[in-house]
Amino acid sequence: MTNNENFDPEEIAKFEELAYRWWDKDSEFKPLHDINPLRLNFIDERVGLHGKKVLDVGCGGGILTESMAAKGAHVKGIDLGKAPLSVAQLHAKESNYDISYEMISAEKIAQREAQSYDVVTCLEMLKHVPEPASVVHSCSQLVKPGGHVFFSTINKNPKAYLFAIIGAEYVLNLLPRGTHEYSKFIRPSELDNWCRDSNLNSKEITGMSYNPITQHYWLGKDVSVNYLVHCQKAEYSS
Ligand code: SAH
Repeated sequence: MTNNENFDPEEIAKFEELAYRWWDKDSEFKPLHDINPLRLNFIDERVGLHGKKVLDVGCGGGILTESMAAKGAHVKGIDLGKAPLSVAQLHAKESNYDISYEMISAEKIAQREAQSYDVVTCLEMLKHVPEPASVVHSCSQLVKPGGHVFFSTINKNPKAYLFAIIGAEYVLNLLPRGTHEYSKFIRPSELDNWCRDSNLNSKEITGMSYNPITQHYWLGKDVSVNYLVHCQKAEYSS
C-alpha cells in the first residue's frame, strides 16, 4: 500500500484504463454481464430490493447498480475509479435511472453514513483491495441493524488458481492478463472470520460456476472458485 487509504493505485488504474468498454457485452466485462442476472436474483430473492435503500461498494461502471435500480431499489454506487464512475453516471442517465454515484472509499462513507442502508453489496471488489477486512468492517457499519450485506470474490486454492487465472486470463482470454493476483484471493473461512469480527452473520454461501464449452454460468454448491456470500447484521449491534 503506497498511501494511507485502503486502496491500491495500480488496481484502480487497471479499471480506469478499461472503463470505456464497461457496457460492451463482448469486452473484458463480459463475465460481469453474464453473471449479473444470477447475482441480482440471488440478492433480490433474499431481500426484496423494491423500495430498499442500497449501497453498492466498488460499483465500477454500474452493471449491478443499475440492475438493482431497475428492481425498484434506491441505489447509491461508490468507487475510487474516476473513469468507471463517469461511465456509470452517463449510462444511468441514458437509462433514466435515479442512481447517485460518488467517488469515495467505503471507510470514509462509513464515517458519514453509518447505519443508513437496508442492503450493502460489495461484489468482485475485495480481491482488489490491500485490506479487505477493513472494507468488510465498513460495510457492516453502513448497514442498519438487521440489514443485509452481500460479498462475492474468488476462493484461494490450486483449482481457483487454475480456473480464475490460468483458465480465464491465459487460455480462454475472458479477462486481461494480470486482472487477478492469486495472493489476493480469499478463502470463505477468512471472509467469514472478518464478517464475524464485524457483527455480520454469514447466512448462506453459494458458488458461481462456468462451463467454457457451453458458456453457461450457474449458482450452486461448488464454492471452490467464485462464490457469493449473504450476511445479516445482528439486530442489536452498532
Ligand atoms: N462491483 C462491480 C465492479 C467490480 S470490478 C461488479 O461486480 O460489477 C472492481 C471495482 O472495484 C472497480 O471498479 C475498481 O475501481 C473498484 N475498486 C478497487 N479498489 C477499490 C477501493 N479500494 N475502493 C473502492 N473501489 C475499489
